[in-house]
Amino acid sequence: MSEEDIEIQNNEVQRVKKIKYNNNIERPWGIAPFLILSWFSCFILGLFLIGIYYLSIPRILQISTAIVYAFAIILAILFIIPSGGLFLITMTSITGLDLLYPHGKKQVTMLVLPPIVYLIGTRIFKIKKDRLRESFIAVSNKLFLAQIEKGRFCATRLLILLPHCIQNHKCPWKITWSIENCKQCGLCPLGALVAMHHKNDIYVYVATGGTIARRVVKEANPTMILAVACPRDLAEGMVDVYPIPVFGILLDRPKGPCFDTHLKLYDVFDFLKKFRPDVYREMIDQTKELANKYEKNYN
Ligand code: SF4
Repeated sequence: MSEEDIEIQNNEVQRVKKIKYNNNIERPWGIAPFLILSWFSCFILGLFLIGIYYLSIPRILQISTAIVYAFAIILAILFIIPSGGLFLITMTSITGLDLLYPHGKKQVTMLVLPPIVYLIGTRIFKIKKDRLRESFIAVSNKLFLAQIEKGRFCATRLLILLPHCIQNHKCPWKITWSIENCKQCGLCPLGALVAMHHKNDIYVYVATGGTIARRVVKEANPTMILAVACPRDLAEGMVDVYPIPVFGILLDRPKGPCFDTHLKLYDVFDFLKKFRPDVYREMIDQTKELANKYEKNYN
């Protein structure tokens, strides 16, 4: 076989690999499913409260009409608070304007909604939980971007939190806790990120699970987190570290779960360009080279 034939054969292998790789990646869900199911939950809550009202009225009327009014007001408040919060979340997610209230504070609705949406989505509509988590992450990211535009929080101490499954399975180096052990071979995205560790208050850590991730967050004490993970870990982590602002980047898993997962490094660079331009400018030439090497090596 001539060299030219070998070259053609290699190109064909790469092309088939690339098609297989792209076919294995499902586009994550956007904001719509989570918001629609949240409104559906509100509708059910409304029906439930109306049911309670009509079932209780005959008995309460025997005591006093004033208590009936008080009871109706309490039920109305129980409906208005979550649905009002959801209205502001919906408008902020759609318009990109920070309409949340209280500004920059805990959005309790975002803590209460996920379990209800997951329950209704999986039980009634038979939707995969990971799909709903993707949608929740999309909504959280929209709220994050809207709030940061208004300067509600900053990336002065930025923690980049990564899962260990992005490390190439052949790599012999232990990088949990000490990513400085990475030899920047370009087989995984860590090579491009390691140089940022301890640079102008940016911390890059690899966590092997939720417990270690929580410990890392506690020790790094960040003002903002850029978290990379699968839908389950990311959605749970976002709720766990609340109210620290988290921007989530979902991993691609073309080779199956928890195995040589793929991170679109350019999503990380876009984030840094926007929120830590100082580090971005300083590191981009070096990291871009390693990022391109990684993309070339992956597959
Ligand atoms: S870039 Fe290479 S040396 Fe560094 S963690 Fe990844 S596979 Fe290991």
